[in-house]
Amino acid sequence: MFLEHMNYLQVEEYLTHDDTILIPVGSLENHGKHMPLGTDTLIPDRIAKYIEERCDVVIAPTVNYGATDDLEGFTGTVSIGVDGLIALLKTICGKFYDYGFRRFLILNGHGGNSKSIDSVGQWLYRKGAYLARLDWWLIAGEIRPEWRGGHGGGLETAGIYGVDPSLIKTEYLELSEGIKNDVSDELPSGNWTNVVFKGANVAMPRAVRSITDNGWLAHGMATDPPTKATVEWGNEMLPLMADYVVDFREALKRAPLPKACK
Ligand SMILES: [Zn+2]
Repeated sequence: MFLEHMNYLQVEEYLTHDDTILIPVGSLENHGKHMPLGTDTLIPDRIAKYIEERCDVVIAPTVNYGATDDLEGFTGTVSIGVDGLIALLKTICGKFYDYGFRRFLILNGHGGNSKSIDSVGQWLYRKGAYLARLDWWLIAGEIRPEWRGGHGGGLETAGIYGVDPSLIKTEYLELSEGIKNDVSDELPSGNWTNVVFKGANVAMPRAVRSITDNGWLAHGMATDPPTKATVEWGNEMLPLMADYVVDFREALKRAPLPKACK
């Protein structure tokens, strides 16, 4: 049930037998030239629609902006930062808590949001509530290892195929990563914004745009190229993710709530 479609009496009635609320959280950020900026929101939104068809959990409006500082610089990308997302989620979840919700399912579309979501989860836990961060793309890769992938690669491209194939700009699918060693030849670019030194990754936060002109950065054309994605993959994966969330919601509903603590 989408909260936006309900009246307050329906919410009050729901709270007499359930205290679970699902909140999709996404991001507005570059995912490579072949993908829409809203990728991390569009996919959780589609999964939420499948969830809505499958059970009666209350689904709050999606949080469309997230923490994505490293991708700023790609025109159209907007980050509200880790602190901004904490403030926003704390306000939203705090209001729902005051009304009686105690089980918060965050359907997350973007890895950069995790720090903020977990911080709010700790805060809710101390108030005697649970928050679960459901990172759909990591769950998908754990359930089906052949789907494993990252930002803008085959996995997420398949996700967008499952939303609307016309959103994929197929003329850019064949582009290689084009990773640049923007720091120095001695400190080549590694995974995401790491550099590699003596065979190990060292984090050096910087703009992704200085590493690549494209930005999908799946780090492995070999394992997760966008060209691997298909409409069939997307159409199988997103309903499966919805099934997972529905089952998780039932299991969490059976779990006793934590005691409030300091
Ligand atoms: Zn993404």
